[in-house]
Amino acid sequence: MSTAQGASTDRRIAVFPGSFDPITVGHVSIVMRSLPLFDRVVVAMGENTTKRYMFPLEQRLEWLRKTFSNNPKVETLSYQGLTADLCAELGAQYIVRGLRNSTDHGNERSIALMNHALRGVETIFLPALPEHAHISSTIVRELMANKADVSAFVPAAVRVP
Ligand code: ADP
Repeated sequence: MSTAQGASTDRRIAVFPGSFDPITVGHVSIVMRSLPLFDRVVVAMGENTTKRYMFPLEQRLEWLRKTFSNNPKVETLSYQGLTADLCAELGAQYIVRGLRNSTDHGNERSIALMNHALRGVETIFLPALPEHAHISSTIVRELMANKADVSAFVPAAVRVP
């Protein structure tokens, strides 16, 4: 991960953190809609050692890389530890999060306030588009586990041929 670039303060850098287990079209939409607001968007896959994932880290990261490979403003990486610390390391002043419903809002509000208290990082919330509000990685995993067609819910990189 590059800190030299991240250290510059005149560029607007945002981190979009998540588990991306797997990445969905809802995530892609949030990243694409955030691009006009920032010079660089870092899609950062959190590695939480206490969390169980369906897909291994390398697989999830590979899907992120492929999905955004044509977009020079998007960087993908994985990280451990606090998102606020990652932001400080990258020189990112903003976190982007998507809100699907009031449950997301309730959870995200306290995380956003904590990140502000810890490192002065502002969180920018984008509302999920209505057509994405029902899509979650959890439901996609459930569909995949039951061999359902998930092609409408995940980007091309994730679609099994
Ligand atoms: P986490 O485990 O950190 O919530 P996720 O990968 O589930 O990670 O989600 C990352 C971010 O993407 C969160 O801000 C979440 O609200 C947002 N998100 C997830 N699904 C959607 C969707 N369908 N539309 C818009 N935003 C979404």
